[in-house]
Amino acid sequence: MGHQHDVGARLEERERLLSPFAARSYESRGRERPEEPSPLRTQFQRDRDRIIHCKAFRRLKHKTQVFIAPVGDHFVTRLTHTLEVAQIARTIARALNLNEDLTEAIALGHDLGHPPFGHAGEEALAELLPEGFRHAEQSLRVVQRLENGGRGLNLTWEVRDGIVNSSKGRQDILADTLGLPATLEGQVVRLADAVAYINHDIADAVRAGILSEDELPVAVSEALGRGHSQRINALVCDIVDYSWAATGLAASESPPRIGMGPSIEEAANALREFLFQRVYLWEDRQAEVERAKRLVRFLFEYYVERPQEIDSDFLISSDPPWRQAADYVAGMTDLFALNMAARLGFREQGP
Ligand code: MG
Repeated sequence: MGHQHDVGARLEERERLLSPFAARSYESRGRERPEEPSPLRTQFQRDRDRIIHCKAFRRLKHKTQVFIAPVGDHFVTRLTHTLEVAQIARTIARALNLNEDLTEAIALGHDLGHPPFGHAGEEALAELLPEGFRHAEQSLRVVQRLENGGRGLNLTWEVRDGIVNSSKGRQDILADTLGLPATLEGQVVRLADAVAYINHDIADAVRAGILSEDELPVAVSEALGRGHSQRINALVCDIVDYSWAATGLAASESPPRIGMGPSIEEAANALREFLFQRVYLWEDRQAEVERAKRLVRFLFEYYVERPQEIDSDFLISSDPPWRQAADYVAGMTDLFALNMAARLGFREQGP
């Protein structure tokens, strides 16, 4: 049926209308293992679908963003975070006439490798592994190796590049020291990630009673407005304005980049800094963070000694035990890790 109606040709025709700076699926650098094209979907659509159907995607629902196993149905999880990133990124990509399908695929895959307990889990693994641990690299590992019993999802190069370069680390919102994605679509996701988390983390902190909207820095409210939707809207509009050269509709000497204007960037960074001070590094949370890190360490050390106890679905048998243990523990959801640790004799210690 696909061939009869030649959907593929029509989809390609649509991609031709995108910005000259957009990534096009028919010009993709391709997959690790070549495949027959789908009759109804572009390569990037197909990647998006593979991500949605994979097991790591389902587990995002039970992974914490900032608050560890929070009590309450309205706290952000990695899944809702991921959906917010995808929605924000698609809005920007469509406004800039970039490839929305590629943007969506990268966004949905960007946090697949995030360990349980948010940044506490990531920090614990980074301290344990000889080569460190970064969730963006682990997300790539999930799609490239761990899913499908070691075969990976065989995604296109552009989606893998966007995923592995999706994280900025803990620095300036526009920092590119960890490597910038090769496509503008990947750059859109990177910024959309920041737009999403600074806003939902405020909402969660308010929900947790840690701060109130009135306490946000005045300069931030002046630049971005008040309330969740005003702030997101201000940030997204500014990104589109600032990055307009990406549409190919404006004369520009240098290759376009996705970014923010200086005043909005300053406000976004101020907001981020405020969150670090008041939420992420908040003293009262440190005990909780330490406990999560101790638990991750416990699980890792347990499985390094006993790799034979790791579910064969979550390891690559040719890897060294520390890599197998890291893959297994990083794949766990918060609750699974808590239950497993309790079963294996994890003892709460300290005051
Ligand atoms: Mg993220």
